[in-house]
Amino acid sequence: MADRLVLLGTKGGPAIRPGGPSPTSTLLDISGRRIVIDCGLGVARALVNADVSLKDLDMILITHLHSDHVLELGPLMHTAWTSGLARKVMVYGPAGIEDYWSGFLQSMRYDIDLRIGDEGRPDLRDLVELKVYADGLVHRDAELTITALRVDHPPVVDCFALKIEASGKSIVFSADTAYFPPLAGFARGSDLLVHEAMLPEGVDRLVARTGNGARLKDHLLASHTLVEDAARIAVAAEVKHLVLHHLIPADDPQCGEADWLEALHGKWDGGLTIGRDGLVIPL
Ligand SMILES: [Zn+2]
Ligand SMILES: [Zn+2]
Repeated sequence: MADRLVLLGTKGGPAIRPGGPSPTSTLLDISGRRIVIDCGLGVARALVNADVSLKDLDMILITHLHSDHVLELGPLMHTAWTSGLARKVMVYGPAGIEDYWSGFLQSMRYDIDLRIGDEGRPDLRDLVELKVYADGLVHRDAELTITALRVDHPPVVDCFALKIEASGKSIVFSADTAYFPPLAGFARGSDLLVHEAMLPEGVDRLVARTGNGARLKDHLLASHTLVEDAARIAVAAEVKHLVLHHLIPADDPQCGEADWLEALHGKWDGGLTIGRDGLVIPL
């Protein structure tokens, strides 16, 4: 399949609403490799809808352990396993990912043991090669180089932007972060910058709707990036194409694509995609 980026889930935050988008996950189909970046709720269904056979997954990268990025990692791997997965998948995550994975396996032990005995499946516990990463080089092989940069996402300490270089292209994911100028150096000259973004006028309405008021608003403003600041990073990094992702708000009928475009007017004139679940970006 031709190289492509597929936005599987584009919503920032864990809540879901009727007919709305899903929390964060992305597929990078590059150099014949199927790499999933983050595993928010809905990732398994979205991958299947993007014509990915789950048993062909190669690698999963988790940027940080907020639930809107990791909640469905276990169910995705389990579903890949029951779909015929027979070889190892590399799963890279920040410190603490081991607790998530061992806890998931423990919670499903009855079913996993049952299926090994009853259906003759290989042991799911042997099919995941779990690796903890931090700043710097994450992975290198003949086709792929992956590096990480710790970003600013309080109170989470281990949250990492990721740069994936393959097929002569460079794709950078901001992960969740407040406006973080060093990201521009990390992303310099990239073909694609997938950056989280928040629309200021949507935040107040979101906070009113969700119901935990000032605390939620403080978290959002301290830990995430306003759309105009995402554009500042893209300009400083001279990337070719900016993809807005992890949108806040993502499911407010009063905040549509036109509002995002208006917020960027005069601030970014390169390639631009406003994220939407299921959107395919050819590379
Ligand atoms: Zn998030
Ligand atoms: Zn987060």
